Amino acid sequence: MYDYDEGDDADCINCGAKLPEIIEEKGSLSVGPWWDGYCSTHCQQGKPVIDIDAILRDLDPYGSLEYTIGYDNNDGDWTACFDYEIVRHHTKGVLVLYKIVVDSDSGGFIETADQGESAFIFAKNIIEDWTGIGQELDGPWSEEDIQQAVETSNRWKRDMIIDYETDFADGWHI
Ligand SMILES: [Zn+2]
Repeated sequence: MYDYDEGDDADCINCGAKLPEIIEEKGSLSVGPWWDGYCSTHCQQGKPVIDIDAILRDLDPYGSLEYTIGYDNNDGDWTACFDYEIVRHHTKGVLVLYKIVVDSDSGGFIETADQGESAFIFAKNIIEDWTGIGQELDGPWSEEDIQQAVETSNRWKRDMIIDYETDFADGWHI
C-alpha cells in the first residue's frame, strides 16, 4: 500500500514547487515524479533551477532604455520602458520574463507598472498593448510618437525571435 500523508501540501525537495496531490484513478494511483518528493525528473536528478523572481528583479527597463514608447510635449509627458529575458523553466517550458516601468515627470511618478512571466505569443504584443494604453491618456501623441512606438514594438518582437532562435530553438512553438 502506498502511503502519502503529506501529499496535500508537500513541496518539491529540489525547487520548492507545490507538488500535485496523488490522484486515485480506477483503483490505481497515477504515478508521477512527485512520487519521491520531486516535481519533475529534472528535479529528481538534482539539476539547478532558475530563480524567476531574481531575474525579474534584475530586469532594468528604465536603466537600459532599450525599448521605450510615449510622448513628451507641452501638455506633459508619459514614457513606458520595457525589458525582457527569455528563460527555460524546468516545468513551465520556455518563458518570456518581462518588466514595464512607467515614468511621467509631469505626473510626478515613476513606477513598475507590470512584471511577470508570459508565453511568447502574448509577450510579443506587450508594447503594442501598452501603446494602446498610453494613447488613452490625456496627452496627445504626435505622428512621430506613434511611428516610433510601432518601430519599437517591431524591434521588440524581432529581438525576442532572434534570442529564441539563438538559444531555445528546440521545443518552443511560436
Ligand atoms: Zn522541482
